Amino acid sequence: MRIFAPIPKAAQQAPSARSSISRLAPSRRLLQRQPQTEPPAKTPLESFTETMEAEGRVSIPVQEADPNCPCNQFAPAPCTTLQRDKINAAHTLAQQRLWRATMRMWEHVHGRSSPAESTRVTTALRANFRSESVKRVAERMGTLAIRSKNALCEPHCTPTCQDPKHVAYAPRPWRNSQCYEFCPPFFTKGPSEATRILIHEMAHSWLGVGGEQYKWKGEYPPIDSLLNADSYAWLAHDLGQ
Ligand SMILES: [Zn+2]
Repeated sequence: MRIFAPIPKAAQQAPSARSSISRLAPSRRLLQRQPQTEPPAKTPLESFTETMEAEGRVSIPVQEADPNCPCNQFAPAPCTTLQRDKINAAHTLAQQRLWRATMRMWEHVHGRSSPAESTRVTTALRANFRSESVKRVAERMGTLAIRSKNALCEPHCTPTCQDPKHVAYAPRPWRNSQCYEFCPPFFTKGPSEATRILIHEMAHSWLGVGGEQYKWKGEYPPIDSLLNADSYAWLAHDLGQ
């Protein structure tokens, strides 16, 4: 299991920053005091997280490990070191894609995007969602981005899944957690596809969506695309790189 350090907030940084300055020699203290009088600028990610929290869109603390992993109560299906590496790499990439995609959409919603960026956002949105607004989808992507910062629970690497073609599951009793089950075909996928698969499962788990209309199969985007897991995975793919 990997633990992610919390994103430092400006308020939490101030005391340690001050104490490190006081330990410096007087000449260096003078030199370094000036920049510290201004509060450090918030990164877009921090601003976004605060906005989401302030608007009540996040109901559990961000960046904390899941308080419980329901999959721990089930018989373990151990993963090899290579399998773990693959899962962890997909998790790292999933976080990057979800945050980049969310920030791109958020900048567009607030009218801060260039025309080219705006076109990229609206084109990707229409390729994966029907008529939903950028804001509505961005809020859901933001929820996924925030949840993705949680450490993964102990993964289950099942040697034989119910459907031999299936690559991964977010079983219903494990929803609202970072509990996932990985089937053998998952480990044959390249990094980009493995990341997309993990985000698809994250959408099942954290957004509670049950739609299974895949991009490469049938009518896509489906009418109820807001409930379709693959729509989020592909939007993160299209806007998160
Ligand atoms: Zn699915």
